Amino acid sequence: MSGHSTSRRERNAHPIPNALASNRHQNPDTQPPDIHLIPDTQAPDWHGRPYYSLDAWCKNTLHRKCYKIALNAHMTCPNRDGSKGTRGCIFCSAGGSGEFAVSTTGKSVPEQLAEGEALLSRKTALPRDIPCIIAYFQAYTNTYAPVEYLEQVFSRALSSPRVCGISIATRPDCLPEDVLVLLSSLKDRFPEKFLWVELGLQTIHESTARFIRRGYDLHCFEDAYGRLQALGIPVILHVILGLPGESRAQMLETMAYVDRLRPFGIKLQLLHVLQGTDLAEHYAKGEFQVLEREAYLDLVADCLERLSPEIVIHRVTGDGPRRILIAPLWSADKHSVLNGLHRRLKERGSVQGCRRALT
Ligand code: SF4
Repeated sequence: MSGHSTSRRERNAHPIPNALASNRHQNPDTQPPDIHLIPDTQAPDWHGRPYYSLDAWCKNTLHRKCYKIALNAHMTCPNRDGSKGTRGCIFCSAGGSGEFAVSTTGKSVPEQLAEGEALLSRKTALPRDIPCIIAYFQAYTNTYAPVEYLEQVFSRALSSPRVCGISIATRPDCLPEDVLVLLSSLKDRFPEKFLWVELGLQTIHESTARFIRRGYDLHCFEDAYGRLQALGIPVILHVILGLPGESRAQMLETMAYVDRLRPFGIKLQLLHVLQGTDLAEHYAKGEFQVLEREAYLDLVADCLERLSPEIVIHRVTGDGPRRILIAPLWSADKHSVLNGLHRRLKERGSVQGCRRALT
């Protein structure tokens, strides 16, 4: 199972369309929006939410609730090991954005999964004998290792009877041919499970990408995205809202670009300032401000309104660990942010996709 249920998405599963390049710098704010308050008669069931959440996708596709366990497979990142840089992206914490992984102390993937399941079982009654765990390879760059090692860690996770699929967070410049062949073969070996790849896009604007030291350009991203699409591997894009120097119009340009790409999913992440990062130094010097709560809610609503109703929304807030979070502190209360977002969309009478620029 590749994780997709719609034939329309299959028709869109092709390498990067050339049209993207020419549309890349369109500013949606300067074009008359095409407003459809009823987004799409063929939109999937959102289970009462104003957008297509991951929870709704799991219910629609797997007919069950699923739970994510974040893992640390003990890899590193070319932005940290000296290959491209040593200080990482300016917002990245020492844990490689993987502080929620159940273990950072050398435990194997099966051990971490067992630990994660035990933690989950204390909070909720996990269904017995039903695969309901998404093994999320989160920390650092999870395809940045010899292919033999990757084969071992991914197939171990996929072999776990409780795991319904894996999600692999990585960089587009860390998907060489042998890794793509491996991912494709794993997809074939475990047809009853899904395999997703999460790519850090963050922004389409090269000046911002250079400032945050992303370490690859948009062409590199598009090449990797096209290769994954060609293999039928669903891709989840990470986009950061509130990056220093980016205007609302620029962020909406990134949304319009993502909408045209039509990935399987997107994570909208609020920029967090974390202790020990270079971003924290810029913040301490007063060089930029983080988003206020109300502005963020409006911005996320703006973004959702511009995304196809078929794109699965995997995240609408940040995921900064509280113990090293410097700002914005309001983001630590995720429930309040989610409730606020639902209220804001209701007030605006809008839902995901209602202000898309049609292509
Ligand atoms: S690519 Fe990911 S792990 Fe590497 S420095 Fe950037 S955010 Fe951190």
